[in-house]
Amino acid sequence: MSPYSPQLHTPPHAPPSHTPPPSPRQRRSRNALLILLILFTLAALLVNRYEEVERLLPWAKQKPPSIIGLHPVVHELSEQLVKECTALGIHVVITDGFRSHHEQNTLFQQGRSADGPIVTHAKGGESYHNYGLAIDFALKTKKGKLIWDLEYDGNQNKHADWLEVVAVAKGLGFSWGGDWKSFKDYPHLQMDFGYTIHQLQRGFYPLDEHEAAVVPGQ
Ligand SMILES: [Zn+2]
Repeated sequence: MSPYSPQLHTPPHAPPSHTPPPSPRQRRSRNALLILLILFTLAALLVNRYEEVERLLPWAKQKPPSIIGLHPVVHELSEQLVKECTALGIHVVITDGFRSHHEQNTLFQQGRSADGPIVTHAKGGESYHNYGLAIDFALKTKKGKLIWDLEYDGNQNKHADWLEVVAVAKGLGFSWGGDWKSFKDYPHLQMDFGYTIHQLQRGFYPLDEHEAAVVPGQ
């Protein structure tokens, strides 16, 4: 037998041999694997987003968290609002934040069974204030007087201070009561994180850091 075997003459990088097409059986198992993968992804999404899905069901309820103050993100951003407005030469005062159901009901009576103008259309549990997701603001003049004047231009830049504050607030992710169609609430700023009042009333609440992190400016 010759010491030179024929294999030695094959080039070191021989072109790969053509792979045969998958058999129907291989194709079936590949499809099954793909379907499994899709199902698994859907299940993972559902588990992750369970609360988000659940709170859309009008009958779903959960034990409400005890809320005794502003939501931490709302709190932080309201401080940020005051700071940014100070830099513009506008003195903003946060006049109201969290309101208990009882406080809200008392406020609701104003202009109805109690003296004074009507300031709210929301009873206890119907306002974002009751969940620590809203604030009200006023302006403070140089003389230290609180005002609710929509045209006041204390920093004299030819723009109403009130609307400058609103613009900063919107940039931070707040929505403004002055944009409401039916009852305009000019001092009111809120951050709902995508939660409706009905969902909040049923015990759902944006506690999750991920949800809090969707706020622009965070
Ligand atoms: Zn308000």
